Amino acid sequence: MQITIALTKGRILKETLPLLAVAGIEPVEDISASRKLLFDTNRSDVRLLVLRGSDVPTYVQFGAADLGVAGKDTLLEHGGDGLYEPLDLGIAACRLMTAGIVGVTPKEGRIRVATKYINIARRFYAEQGRQVDLIKLYGAMELAPIMALADEIVDIVDTGNTLKANGLEARDVIADVSSRIIVNKAAMKMKHQPIQQIVEGLRKAVG
Ligand code: AMP
Repeated sequence: MQITIALTKGRILKETLPLLAVAGIEPVEDISASRKLLFDTNRSDVRLLVLRGSDVPTYVQFGAADLGVAGKDTLLEHGGDGLYEPLDLGIAACRLMTAGIVGVTPKEGRIRVATKYINIARRFYAEQGRQVDLIKLYGAMELAPIMALADEIVDIVDTGNTLKANGLEARDVIADVSSRIIVNKAAMKMKHQPIQQIVEGLRKAVG
C-alpha cells in the first residue's frame, strides 16, 4: 500500500527530515538541492511531497496525501475538516500574536487588522468583542502599521526580532504554534496499519 506524506517546505521541512529519518524514512535524494516536488524514499511504499504550508491540509483533506506535517497556525486557519491531528512534533515552535506600533495604545472602536490569517483573526477579535476590518496580506505584515495600512497585525512571532526591527510590539497571544502530524480520515481507516506505524515511529522520534 502506497503512503504519501505531504511536507511543508522551508524551516518546518528542515526540522521534520531528522525526525522522519529516526522513524526510518529518508528521501533518496537531497530535497533542498532539487526542484522536484515529489520524492521517493528508502521505503518503496512511502513517498514525500514538498508543498507550501497552506496547501498541506488541502492535500491531506482531499486524500491526495495520506499524512502531512503542518504548522498549527496553518491548521487553525484552514479548519480541521476531514483531518485527524494525532501528534504534536514540537518543532518550529512560535506564537500567533497581535502586534501594533510600540507605545501606541490600542484604539477603541473599530480597527483595521492586516494579516494572512483572516479566519483566525476574525474568530479572535469576535471572541474579544472587538470590531475589525480585516485586510488580507500575503507577506511583510510588519510593514502595515508603520505605513498606516492597519492598526494591528496578526502574525507569527518567534524571537520578536522582526517586530522590533519594524517598530512594533506584541500585544495578545492568540495561540501557541508548533508543527503537527495530520492524517486523512478515510486513509486512517483504509491504510490503518502503515499509517499507525509511521505515526508511532514519529512519536518515538519526538521522544
Ligand atoms: P522572529 O523575528 O524570530 O519573531 O520571527 C518572526 C518571523 O519569522 C515571522 O514573521 C514568521 O514569518 C517567521 N517565523 C518564525 N518562526 C516561524 C515558524 N515556526 N513557522 C513559520 N514562520 C515562522
